[in-house]
Amino acid sequence: MIIAMEPQATEEQIQAVCKKIEALGFRAHTIRGVERTVVALTGIPGQLDPEEFESLPGVAEALLITKPYKLASRETKTEDSVIQVGLSDSPVTIGGQELAVIAGPCAVESREQTFAAAAAVRQAGARLFRGGAFKPRTSPYTFQGLGQEGLEILAEVRQEFGLAIVTETIDPENCNQVEEYTDILQVGARNMQNFSLLKRVGRSSRPVLLKRGISATLEEFLMAAEYIMAEGNYNVILCERGVRTFADHTRNTLDLSVIPAVKRRSHLPIIVDPSHGTGKREKVIPLARAAIAVGADGLIVEVHPHPDMALSDGFQSLHPEEFESLMEQITAIAGVVGRTTARSTPAPSAAIRE
Ligand code: PEP
Ligand code: MN
Repeated sequence: MIIAMEPQATEEQIQAVCKKIEALGFRAHTIRGVERTVVALTGIPGQLDPEEFESLPGVAEALLITKPYKLASRETKTEDSVIQVGLSDSPVTIGGQELAVIAGPCAVESREQTFAAAAAVRQAGARLFRGGAFKPRTSPYTFQGLGQEGLEILAEVRQEFGLAIVTETIDPENCNQVEEYTDILQVGARNMQNFSLLKRVGRSSRPVLLKRGISATLEEFLMAAEYIMAEGNYNVILCERGVRTFADHTRNTLDLSVIPAVKRRSHLPIIVDPSHGTGKREKVIPLARAAIAVGADGLIVEVHPHPDMALSDGFQSLHPEEFESLMEQITAIAGVVGRTTARSTPAPSAAIRE
């Protein structure tokens, strides 16, 4: 259930609603929108009478949410969520007008490789940097990441290049270590239904990039986001990274139709990963273009200074000059769909136009 407050409701009236919810054994979530504040109530459903809340001062209406996901639903919050991350002097937003572009290697392999990737992606217009220090690999005999050393290299990248960092956390204990170093916690596709990890990142102060599971339906995907939000962390960024189908011309089948489907059901931002979504370098730019055209809020793209020497996912990693071209192309498409990138030229001011 959600309790929508009157636009002029006072802070005390909002608090009184929260207290009543808690006294009934539920959790209260205060969601402040542009037009109205909503208090959402989560917990194991029981008999609840909306009228009990509608009689409280400052309450406009109490509504039952029909979808199984409540906090992630557009029924709870009608306007798009814009998530702010990174360094306080130059914050980056995800879900706002500017597209969020996260770029970097699949894995942090060395300081030299990571710095080279960071310099290239920053120059091309990315504001966020990706790189795994802990890699959940299909085979236990392949490179598993540099661990703590990798996190320290990422911290240096943030300092040196002013890029916000996105890196993966693989289990609840590991999260204690990773959250100290990263601006956004990434939950990988294989962990989308690792409920103890979802609850743990839900208690973090860092925004979470939640990748869609390899065979997850849209409802399962949004319910995974709900697990995080139910713990009090509302800063969830969804990521479509391809699902498993019978098709074998690509590594996964990038489901771009999920973007408008998510936009209809949820206020959360959603970005696209055309690297894991295709698994093939030559398909990354075309699918990145399509993702922006279809309404994605940004991209996460693998870029390596020497893809042929990459310790993981070299086949799908872009060369730096290809990433530069991707940025140029999506900047053009962004203009058509009412978005911008860090490379967009600002519209000339009225004074200059005259
Ligand atoms: C990654 O982004 O490096 C990764 C492992 O992705 P996914 O979890 O989508 O496979
Ligand atoms: Mn990868």
